Amino acid sequence: MIDLHTHSLFSDGELLPSELVRRAEEIGYEAVAITDHADSSNLDWIVPHLVRVCEDLNRRWKIRAVPGIELTHLPPDMIAPLAAEARSLGAKIVVVHGETPVVPVAPGTNGKAIEAGVDILAHPGLISEKETALARERKVFLEISARRGHSLANGHIARLATRFGASLVLNTDGHAPGDLITRGQALKVALGAGLEAGDFERMLQNSSEIVTRVFGK
Ligand SMILES: [Zn+2]
Ligand SMILES: [Zn+2]
Repeated sequence: MIDLHTHSLFSDGELLPSELVRRAEEIGYEAVAITDHADSSNLDWIVPHLVRVCEDLNRRWKIRAVPGIELTHLPPDMIAPLAAEARSLGAKIVVVHGETPVVPVAPGTNGKAIEAGVDILAHPGLISEKETALARERKVFLEISARRGHSLANGHIARLATRFGASLVLNTDGHAPGDLITRGQALKVALGAGLEAGDFERMLQNSSEIVTRVFGK
C-alpha cells in the first residue's frame, strides 16, 4: 500500500510522525506521505520539521516517508503562491484540501488547486466536468478517499475521472492508527466507488510513480 495523504500531530492527527510511519510499515505500506494541514500561519513551521524526520527515518527504515503538506481552507487565490512556498521549503508532495461534501471549503478551491498544478487534489467532492478535464490536462491527481464523509463523493469522482481520463490516487487521509488500511481494504474502497480491479492497480501504480519521482529512482 502507498498512502500519500495522512496527518500527524503537527496538525490534527494523533501520532508523532515517527509512530505514524512505523505503524504504516507494520501493516505493509511501502510508502507514506505526511501531509499536515497548513495555511500561511504554520506552513514554514511544519514543512522543515517533516523534512527532517522523514530524512532521519528514510536513512534507517525500508518504508519511504515523504514530507508533504495539505493546503487547507486557503482563500483560493493563495493556493498557487503557498504551493510554491511549500515546495521551496522542501515539501515533496503538495495536496490541497478539496471541496468535500462534508466541510465548508471555499468554492473555487478545486479549480485553483488544479490551475496551480499541485500534486493531489484531495477529496474534491462534486467536482465539475470542466475541472476534471483540466485535472487531466495539468496532470493533477484526483483522490479517492477512504475517509468517512469525504468518501461520499467517491462514486462521482471515479465516474468523471474515468470519462475524462483524469488520473486517480487512493489515500486514507488518516488521522489515527485505525485509519491506516491494508491493500485489501483499499481495494474494497475502490470497488465500492464503482471502479474495477484494473483501475485499482492503476491507482497504486500512479502513487508508486509519484514516490519514484520524489526519490529520483
Ligand atoms: Zn483534507
Ligand atoms: Zn487530510
